[in-house]
Amino acid sequence: MTPGFLALGGNQGDRRASLQAALDALPIHGVTPTACSSAYATAAVGGPPGQPDYLNACVRIETAHSPLALLEACKAIERALGRPEPGEPGYVPHGPRPVDLDVLLLGRAAFAHPRLTIPHAALTQRRFVLVPLLELDFALELPDGTRLADALARLGVDEDVRRAGPPLVV
Ligand code: AMP
Repeated sequence: MTPGFLALGGNQGDRRASLQAALDALPIHGVTPTACSSAYATAAVGGPPGQPDYLNACVRIETAHSPLALLEACKAIERALGRPEPGEPGYVPHGPRPVDLDVLLLGRAAFAHPRLTIPHAALTQRRFVLVPLLELDFALELPDGTRLADALARLGVDEDVRRAGPPLVV
């Protein structure tokens, strides 16, 4: 089993219920959640104007999946919870969605593939990911040794990330 971290986010419907449903679905897809951060509210970044705020959380996991199998598990959960795929009716790039799952880290190795980059390419640029992630493990480092707490300290505080509820139930 390899430890890893996922980011959950959503800005449609009952956001906390959608994030909890995504977390609850992980074991069905071969992914064991072992801890979850508090929930945080964040203004949407990019996409159409006027979107509702996101609710975000990070989950520590263990899995025997390969990186691509873990991505497939995440996509299957997004589909099951109602997110349209690119090309399907209702799909809007960076648009509102009930739930989005991103692979942040898997073990201590980097992974590069046309469909999947680990660590997640935007990890060190997003306060709404770093804040919940560091709540789970303040000592986390990237495979190249970058401390994520240092990456967070380098970001400005203009992106408003507000604690908006207790951890989801693992
Ligand atoms: P998203 O809009 O967040 O669902 O991501 C769009 C696409 O980014 C996915 O379909 C993946 O193929 C790709 N992608 C690349 N790296 C990652 C990652 N670390 N986690 C999730 N998706 C990724």
